[in-house]
Amino acid sequence: MKRISHRMVFLIVLVAALLLGILAFTVHYFFRSDDWVVFSGSPHVYTGNNLSSGRVTDRSGTLLLDSTDGRSYSEDAALRSATMHLLGDRFGYISSPVLNEYADELVGFSKVNGLYSLTDASNTAVLTISAQVQKTAQAALAGRKGTIGVYNYKTGEILCAVTSPTYDPDNMPDVENDATGAYDGVYLNRFFQTSYVPGSIFKLVTSIAALENIPDITQRTFTCSGTWEIGGDTIICNGVHGTLTFQEALAHSCNVAFGQLAVELGPETMTAYAEQLGVTESLKFDGVTTAAGSFDLEGAADSEIAWSGIGQYTDLVNPCQYMVLMGAIANGGQAAIPHLMARVEGGLTDRYTARTAYTETLMDAAAASQLADMMRYNVVNMYGAGQFPDLKVCAKSGTAELGPGTTPNATFAGFIQDENYPLAFIVIVENGGSGSATCAPIAGQVLNACVAAMQNEG
Ligand SMILES: [Zn+2]
Repeated sequence: MKRISHRMVFLIVLVAALLLGILAFTVHYFFRSDDWVVFSGSPHVYTGNNLSSGRVTDRSGTLLLDSTDGRSYSEDAALRSATMHLLGDRFGYISSPVLNEYADELVGFSKVNGLYSLTDASNTAVLTISAQVQKTAQAALAGRKGTIGVYNYKTGEILCAVTSPTYDPDNMPDVENDATGAYDGVYLNRFFQTSYVPGSIFKLVTSIAALENIPDITQRTFTCSGTWEIGGDTIICNGVHGTLTFQEALAHSCNVAFGQLAVELGPETMTAYAEQLGVTESLKFDGVTTAAGSFDLEGAADSEIAWSGIGQYTDLVNPCQYMVLMGAIANGGQAAIPHLMARVEGGLTDRYTARTAYTETLMDAAAASQLADMMRYNVVNMYGAGQFPDLKVCAKSGTAELGPGTTPNATFAGFIQDENYPLAFIVIVENGGSGSATCAPIAGQVLNACVAAMQNEG
């Protein structure tokens, strides 16, 4: 009797342990199985570092990648090159943060049916980019290094995210043995992963700080004699501008006026605005974490503070983040946070649908509105509104000095003021020289392509 009861207790403990184990597994399976299935390196769903399941299209249904059986890119070589940094390559040199982020939705894993759906219809990721815009932008860079981004500042959809150099994933060049420098940094997505010396597009940050902190700024005049001596150093301007209003100072990109404003605002205020406007922060969305910019006036001399307000010194901006700041100026101080994944279609219902999220309020609505008007003035009076026929473009150009003997980077950032086409943009051409001369025509082509893509959607 005693022996039997011992056995009973032992059996009960065993059964209880088994039941607990099953319960723990079930709970884990329910909450974690998606992660197990798409665990990076799982041979069922990955080739190299990249997901090999499902289809990927652009915003209008143009097929970019089909990995339901192997890994087939578009048949269009130009489109393959223009989207490779978003989709990943064949060999894992370039991964796709956005496809990895939505791996479980894309793989079509079901807790009931496992990896293979009954219909065998694999899921489709619809990106926000436009294939035609990507190709137009890549062609506009014409092999020069740089990046172009455009997004809808009201919805957050990224229509264009192009980086150069790139290559055709179906015809990979010998990058390792290339001696020409043509493929320097090719594995980087310059739009998301790099930060650039901004040059004069940074005067927009200084302008916001001035508009919010200097009450009489719009009545102020500045005097530019071509140079300004400060703290034993000389701030050199791009011209001799004479007497300028604040608006004219931005239009002529007067270094003397903006150097003086940065010194007047002081290092604490300038640093606070660089932080508040997001320059020093990373943006996170859809598995992407952008590079952070830089603004550091620790121990800076007055002349260095002056240069920091001009977009030189140690200033750096990430192109994607700066594009969002353009959206905030356009949109009354607050912009949509960008995204790349519109939805993941699978079977009868979408497995994922993007929702618009917004930045915090980055600046006063009044400052945003005044600066937007000044950026429109720039286009009409300096860059030429004829470069953007039918589009109410507001912008600021920059020519970012990189040091003696090096051609400056050309930068250009802004937005369209139009309820139907609320697009913010940035164009950077490395060693491109003058920002407006080099980048404004590129911006014109790419914005036209974006508007055409949006019109085609009705
Ligand atoms: Zn000047």
